[in-house]
Amino acid sequence: MDINKIGVIGAGTMGNGIAHVFARSGFEVVLCEVAQQYLDRGMATVRQNLEREVARNKITAGESAQAIARIRGSLERQALAECDFVIEAATEKFEIKAEIFRDIDRICHPGVILSSNTSSISITKIAALTKRPDKVIGMHFFNPVPVMKLVEVIRGLATSDETYATVKSLAEKLGKTPVEVNDAPGFVSNRVLMPLLNEAMYAVMEGVATPQAVDEVFKLGMAHPMGPLTLADFIGLDVCLDIMRVLHDGLGDPKYRPCPLLIKMVDAGWLGRKSGRGFYQY
Ligand code: NAD
Repeated sequence: MDINKIGVIGAGTMGNGIAHVFARSGFEVVLCEVAQQYLDRGMATVRQNLEREVARNKITAGESAQAIARIRGSLERQALAECDFVIEAATEKFEIKAEIFRDIDRICHPGVILSSNTSSISITKIAALTKRPDKVIGMHFFNPVPVMKLVEVIRGLATSDETYATVKSLAEKLGKTPVEVNDAPGFVSNRVLMPLLNEAMYAVMEGVATPQAVDEVFKLGMAHPMGPLTLADFIGLDVCLDIMRVLHDGLGDPKYRPCPLLIKMVDAGWLGRKSGRGFYQY
């Protein structure tokens, strides 16, 4: 099946970035949300990020305008019926994704690949909710999507070779580098990254060091471009907590228990950069 029109579900941090890169690469995009305010916020972010690319001479003003014109926002999931490929980037909760996948399996043409940008939830489990488990796959982009080169492509137990090959080639058309991994909690990226961020939070909670000091250690000592607490704020503390819970439940090892300070901050609504406060103030 030729892929021209992409359905993106969720216009948050990741969804708007995914819509951006597909539209910039010439694909038509239907961007689906649950409320107009989230759609407006997502579209405003795409506009802002495209303008930044124009200012940096990466694209022309004309290319930016064409990319924006290729994205159509919708509050109706039925609009995905006309899409040739769907990527879900909604909130990292299994129940939310389960409802979406059951529904899009019904709405989309049987030949359409249904992918998820999930950071940690089992692709095999999501696929089993559909009548096309061979056409369900993880397409895990990194934040900020227009900048980061990696796409972790996650094969569920039933994902076919053909589905994998299609998604690999799609990622390459976006100028990204796909890396193949098998389905396991947190895949590779978050299984290794999140325990690091979580441990950095324990260091702060136990008074070992301030967030600034922890971040300095990693920037200067390990040449990380961003310290772990700055990165956690950037990802979103709610997203970090959801991922730690998936690792803890899925792998069953107490070393993956979420840091109590992380739980407390999410309870307080301190979600990092997106809410204006996390380990730092924005
Ligand atoms: P976010 O909270 O910024 O955005 C989620 C969006 O999904 C919200 O705008 C919300 O309104 C929308 N949404 C919720 N339910 C929906 C539904 N039923 N239909 C349509 N839209 C719905 O979250 P995010 O950071 O963009 O994360 C989205 C997904 O991407 C998650 O699975 C997350 O694990 C994954 N992810 C996040 C990052 C990151 O750095 N934040 C990186 C890689 C992957």
